[in-house]
Amino acid sequence: MADSKKMEALEKRPPIVVVMGHVDHGKSTLIDYIRKSNIVAKEAGGITQAIGAYEIEHKNASGLVQKITFIDTPGHNAFGAMRARGAKVADVAVLVVAADDGVKLQTKEAVKCIKEAEIPFVVAINKADLPAADIEKTKSDLLQAEIFLEGMGGDISWQIISAKTGKGVSELLDLILLTAEMEELSFDPKGETRGVILTGRRDSRRGVIVGLVVKNGALKKGQYIAASNAGGKLKLLEDGNGKAIKTLLPSAPALVIGFETIPSVGEEFVSGDDEKKIAAFITRPDVVKPSIQRKEEEREEAIFVVLKADEAGSLMALKNIAEKIAAETPLSIVEASVGDIIENTVKNAPIKNGIIIGFRSKVEMVAKKMAEIRGVPIITSDVIYDLEDSISKYLKENKKKEPPALEVLAVFGTPKKKEQVVGGMVRSGIVKNRAGFLVLRDDKEVGKGKIKNLQSGKNDVSEVSEGKEAGLLIEADLPVVKGDKLVFGNKEGI
Ligand code: GDP
Repeated sequence: MADSKKMEALEKRPPIVVVMGHVDHGKSTLIDYIRKSNIVAKEAGGITQAIGAYEIEHKNASGLVQKITFIDTPGHNAFGAMRARGAKVADVAVLVVAADDGVKLQTKEAVKCIKEAEIPFVVAINKADLPAADIEKTKSDLLQAEIFLEGMGGDISWQIISAKTGKGVSELLDLILLTAEMEELSFDPKGETRGVILTGRRDSRRGVIVGLVVKNGALKKGQYIAASNAGGKLKLLEDGNGKAIKTLLPSAPALVIGFETIPSVGEEFVSGDDEKKIAAFITRPDVVKPSIQRKEEEREEAIFVVLKADEAGSLMALKNIAEKIAAETPLSIVEASVGDIIENTVKNAPIKNGIIIGFRSKVEMVAKKMAEIRGVPIITSDVIYDLEDSISKYLKENKKKEPPALEVLAVFGTPKKKEQVVGGMVRSGIVKNRAGFLVLRDDKEVGKGKIKNLQSGKNDVSEVSEGKEAGLLIEADLPVVKGDKLVFGNKEGI
């Protein structure tokens, strides 16, 4: 009896769909085409909101209008991260395979992801408009990869499309809805409000902005909200059109303001009126930031990376890639955060074997200059796979590269107008005349300066190499003392 009552309370909800497949097979083009050709999305008037998902309305052949929410993930690595966190955000997946290229590595990886998430999927054989499109070969590729299509001994629905011209896309949407229909997706409007975090970033004007999708209950303005590492009170909810709303129902995506810190992408959230109950959901406040010192002791040989991305979703994708590389090579992630690469990012990056990697992050001019002086490389790209390649390449080329450094063994006289004569031993690399340096005392940076004259055995020289003694006339912003370490960048002066 109680059960049947519960059943009656359930309502149908639209499917949440993720588009996956190999790079360049047309995922973004398909998502864009669907967005542009849809009435609801058109009304948004070009507002591109970083929700991480958008809702469309599709009219099927019999005139029935139904909603679909598409997840707009930055590369399928983000989807992998979502899966790793146990949040089954998508109800249905679309596997895009380009007909001129067939099944590729990431196609297989995507299928693995989908199978592990235990969600149904449909196949879109894309780029059918290209002369090089070979539908039959693509189908047999799929068969070989154990993707059993309808009509080929299996039951996986498929559709030939062109994401460019839009041919077959409407039929693909029909198939998605049909597949979702069989899942009997429902929600309890009076039940616990739950959903998944899709994006998160900090806006200088509006504070923490989070994109999310609701999967059960109803998200309401004024209620408390929490994911495992962040929480707050919902101050504002905005739908896909940027319109303020009071209530958000499954499976609609929205932007919310109210989180005090940025929650992680792919995390499940809960929401409700009971502050204590909701706050109890926060089990690991503030993701632990490993200490640079400790890491350095642990892995003398390692390259230390600082990861930066424009928003939480991108950061997740970048972290995934870095962690994958770190599993096989001596690479330590010392920091991972959302934002631009600024002066402080460079200041806080380890000088020894440090590198900064930015995914869709801007690099400030000052930061760029400072990084050059310090010899800390910055690698950025808007394409995640390019970064993966660049990191691997960098690791190969720079197994362990000590910056030039000199240990101060003697200080002569007292500094005059910041000028000082010191003697020391080059401990690593080649120290060049007129080079700028940082002063490290007990491994902490205490000041900076530059060489005004360099001598070796009383002769003026242009450089002194590792293991040799040197006499230096320096100009520094503090008196250098015996035992200090002067660490040189790769540029003249500071
Ligand atoms: P993604 O990496 O999977 O998101 O791939 P994109 O959507 O960025 O597409 C990669 C390239 O293929 C772009 O140059 C697209 O314009 C092109 N493309 C995508 N779909 C089609 C299609 O159906 N036909 C043709 N001719 N080109 C396509």
